[in-house]
Amino acid sequence: MKEKLYIRKAAVLGAGVMGAQVSAHLANAGIPVTLFDLAQTDGDPNALANKALKMMKKLRPAPYAVSGVESAITAANYNDHLASLADCDLVIEAISERMDWKTDLFGKVAPHLAPHAILASNTSGLGINKLAEALPAEVRKRFLGIHFFNPPRYMHLVELIPAAETDPEAVNGLESFLVSNLGKGVVIAKDTPNFIGNRIGVFSLLATIHHTERLGLGFEVVDGLTGKALGRPKSATFRTADVVGLDTFSHVVNTFKEYLADDAWHSHFTTPTWIQLLIEKGALGAKSGAGVYAAKGKQVIDLAAGEYRAADGTVDDEVQALLRERDPAKKLAALRASENPQAQLVWCILRDLFHYCAVHLGDIADTARDVDFGMRWGYGWKHGPFETWQASGWSQVAGWIAEDIEAGKTMTQVPLPAWVGQIDAVHTPEGSYSPSAGAYHALSDHPVYQRQRVRENVLGSTPVSLGDTVFEDDSVRMWHDSDDVAVLSLKSKMHVFDGGVLEGVLRAVDTAERQFKGMVVWSPDAPFSAGANLKAVADSVAQGDYDAVEQMVTLFQEATMALKHSMVPTVAAVQGLALGGGCECQLHCNRTVAALESYIGLVEAGVGLLPAGGGCKELAVRVAELAKGGDVFPYVKTVFENIAMAKVSGSGLEARFMGLLRPSDVVIGNAHELLHVARAQVLAMHEAAWRPPMRGLPIPVAGKTGIATLKMVMVNMLEGSFISPHDYDIGSRVADAICGSEVEAGSTVPEEWLLTLERKHFMALLHEEKTQQRIEHMLKTGKPLRN
Ligand code: NAD
Repeated sequence: MKEKLYIRKAAVLGAGVMGAQVSAHLANAGIPVTLFDLAQTDGDPNALANKALKMMKKLRPAPYAVSGVESAITAANYNDHLASLADCDLVIEAISERMDWKTDLFGKVAPHLAPHAILASNTSGLGINKLAEALPAEVRKRFLGIHFFNPPRYMHLVELIPAAETDPEAVNGLESFLVSNLGKGVVIAKDTPNFIGNRIGVFSLLATIHHTERLGLGFEVVDGLTGKALGRPKSATFRTADVVGLDTFSHVVNTFKEYLADDAWHSHFTTPTWIQLLIEKGALGAKSGAGVYAAKGKQVIDLAAGEYRAADGTVDDEVQALLRERDPAKKLAALRASENPQAQLVWCILRDLFHYCAVHLGDIADTARDVDFGMRWGYGWKHGPFETWQASGWSQVAGWIAEDIEAGKTMTQVPLPAWVGQIDAVHTPEGSYSPSAGAYHALSDHPVYQRQRVRENVLGSTPVSLGDTVFEDDSVRMWHDSDDVAVLSLKSKMHVFDGGVLEGVLRAVDTAERQFKGMVVWSPDAPFSAGANLKAVADSVAQGDYDAVEQMVTLFQEATMALKHSMVPTVAAVQGLALGGGCECQLHCNRTVAALESYIGLVEAGVGLLPAGGGCKELAVRVAELAKGGDVFPYVKTVFENIAMAKVSGSGLEARFMGLLRPSDVVIGNAHELLHVARAQVLAMHEAAWRPPMRGLPIPVAGKTGIATLKMVMVNMLEGSFISPHDYDIGSRVADAICGSEVEAGSTVPEEWLLTLERKHFMALLHEEKTQQRIEHMLKTGKPLRN
């Protein structure tokens, strides 16, 4: 039997932007890491790595999933600590992008590597085979490229680039690890300069710059055309360039120029003079306060005038109308036909992108799907270039590109490769086209993907079908996969809880008890749930129908209590937001499996309310459990702060730290594996002869002493104007609800008592004008109002 790859310990070489953040993400996955950098001769020899570790605490978005994980990282240097590499299973090199420096370092580290250790380079584009040449033959078998995207915790893509001698088992083992433990989307790339993501992404940027200049459009207008309107990040083209840094961008363009001498687009691989001028002036982008944009994005550089002007250019109404067209084929045809330069820009950048991708596909990737995944996962595009092309009509668009090549309108006149005309689609139910094989290749059959019930795929592939329906209405669908575990999926927008969903939960629990071993609450896409349906609450309030709201709150409590006390185990599978009512739902399921990227919180105070779907009650129960018969107050404080300050966890790990997940709840790296893991939990609980928590147990509470102490803290905050009188009122009611109201400290109360309390306070707050203003503001702006 082949030895399985276990990553017990890792090392990262280079504590720069990437190395430091990669080590943080390894630590998030529970892996001890040694972070190396050059030894410093003055003072602390580990100063570089230590400084990086310190900086990461302040970096946003946060590389650490929860405070404390940094203790898994040990700072080191190459003079003193190379011997510690001996017990590392994975060593990732992430030093400056210089072939000579990297190969030099390989010479130093190779003798210290364990015989089984994998060595991987995070180079953005240097040749992996070339780097491998610097290594002893033994190490070459376990050497490959591992290209993370910045920021590595959040960008889904990792490109793995095997060299000619890399053992396929090393690649497979690493793919499993990256997918399951680090939560990544892996694309296997060929060893060509800049691999897949950056090759296409940077080309797309260059093509956009080219057509912007040619058509004389304002940069802010082009950003308006190439961001959300094209299913790409809001920062679009030039705001992205500013974030990346114009100097870095120029550096990347130079590597294109240097390494891609044979590329038919080579003459376009230059940094435009105006960008060079900005760099010379020190206008490098976001890091220097000015770049293409200045004044926090309010001004933009005007090339004709050579100075910044107000960034007030907009996309023309007629072009906006074209971009809103839902049928991609009609949309592209209309953009192409329009004489408006803004429409022309969009057509031309897509055309040249398709042209470039088609010409290079065979060299850089196995299939068109790998390019599309690369752009989705590495650049945040909703769809990759081949998907967009195919959705717009494969042959039709190919004909248009060929016409424009003929007419000399494209950036280069190299013809489309012959395969383009020989197929009708790049993505089919059978698989995606591979020009190098002349065949369609199905998704990888690597066993790690058997853990993904809904595997991401491209447009044009067969949509995933989800099991057999048990029952379905407008709000929920209960289904199963010819096994004994039922799944309840929410159908409401953002999976909010409303009357229909709550009725669905009750019906599902009842059905699961009769027909299944247990039930998972899981929806195929994020978020788990954005909360209760606030709009419905606001509508009832507007009509003065408070009874309707109270009935809804009662129903909510019935539904959550049903989840908790069901005779079969219930497991919540959480990813993304689990706010307010969504959090209460997961709190009441008998177990939660949460993806690392879960943002969980009881945020009701933000809209002037408190959790009344059992949230206050359930946290009081957990506090009592944690106190183990002792004083409950020390545990009440954290719970109170969670609710009164509407705190949201920055990750699944942090939710556990905040007490919103139990120690027995499971946090996993990859959201695609949630259903797999949650099902396994249901079965394990069933096999352990499941009994629900007992109903009606007496719960020790902090009582009036607890309330008084919490209020005292709030009085100080009120006097210091840190909170408003309305915050104080909400906080006082939260204190009352979680401490069991005016009873003696240490008394016990039944669950029903706590449920009644939270319901009472919720309804009282709902009658408050300030709460109603908060609700209205949230519905209008999506942001909390502090009044
Ligand atoms: P960086 O400049 O932030 O850090 C480079 C690190 O290398 C520093 O810690 C420095 O001390 C160290 N170093 C410099 N010279 C060295 C030498 N001769 N020997 C040993 N160490 C040396 O760079 P970065 O952005 O973190 O990039 C690191 C690698 O990751 C590069 O190969 C880069 O192409 C790649 N990469 C970068 C990004 C990105 O967005 N920054 C994304 C993906 C990949």
